Amino acid sequence: MKPEEQAVLDLARAYLAQLAEQGERELWIPKANLSISRHSSENAEPFDEKKRPGVQERAPADGVSGEGDLKAYFNEIKDCRKCPLWRTRKNFVFGEGNPVAKLVFIGEAPGADEDLEGRPFVGAAGKLLTKIIENGLKMPREEVFIGNILKCRPPGNRNPLPNEIEQCEPHLIRQLNIIRPKVICALGTFAAQTLLETKVPISTLRGNIHYYQNMKVIPTFHPAALLRNPGWKRFVWEDIQLLRREYDREVSSDFNDA
Ligand code: URA
Repeated sequence: MKPEEQAVLDLARAYLAQLAEQGERELWIPKANLSISRHSSENAEPFDEKKRPGVQERAPADGVSGEGDLKAYFNEIKDCRKCPLWRTRKNFVFGEGNPVAKLVFIGEAPGADEDLEGRPFVGAAGKLLTKIIENGLKMPREEVFIGNILKCRPPGNRNPLPNEIEQCEPHLIRQLNIIRPKVICALGTFAAQTLLETKVPISTLRGNIHYYQNMKVIPTFHPAALLRNPGWKRFVWEDIQLLRREYDREVSSDFNDA
């Protein structure tokens, strides 16, 4: 590498480190300039859930499902102490919404407002998510299910730790097996990278359809990132249109199969 190229690279590294220090967790890279191959897209092989230990095949369509199960599961795990976050949480945030939702939104972890209320996405980012669902998707928030990768707030809103994700993810897997949605919207880096078992940035994952078990996953920027970067609205808008199309396609194929 020429010295002047090295200098540009060092500058870019320093700039990224500065952004990271300021709490920036997501970086948008224009797709047109990328030659990175996609981890999983509409044309790629669906994600192979058998590679992941402990993941169940989805129950057959006539299997037991619905609120009863979800409530029973809430009661089973609400006092969870599998990772140290139980010591600092005010509330265990199980998630909320339609227990037989066809569409599930998954965020990262509860923040201060969610921890206080015991409900997901009730703070500023949550209000924006509600607007996205109601104005963008044109459906009531109550029609979908909203949850998180972690059920307890990491102190000071720090990033989830690998051990916390590892301990908490089985709860999410079980919830998804009970609800059995057709489409999952992964909100932000952590949700997308955890569900898709990848380190590919959200800016690359978004705009495509991926798979988690046999459910479609459509990643988009986290609403909190959108509040910090209003210029990303148009990408989220595109993702929401894709989400709506896939949701309609799945729901109508379910209806035709019935
Ligand atoms: N951010 C998240 O990822 N989840 C919440 O519930 C709230 C904010």
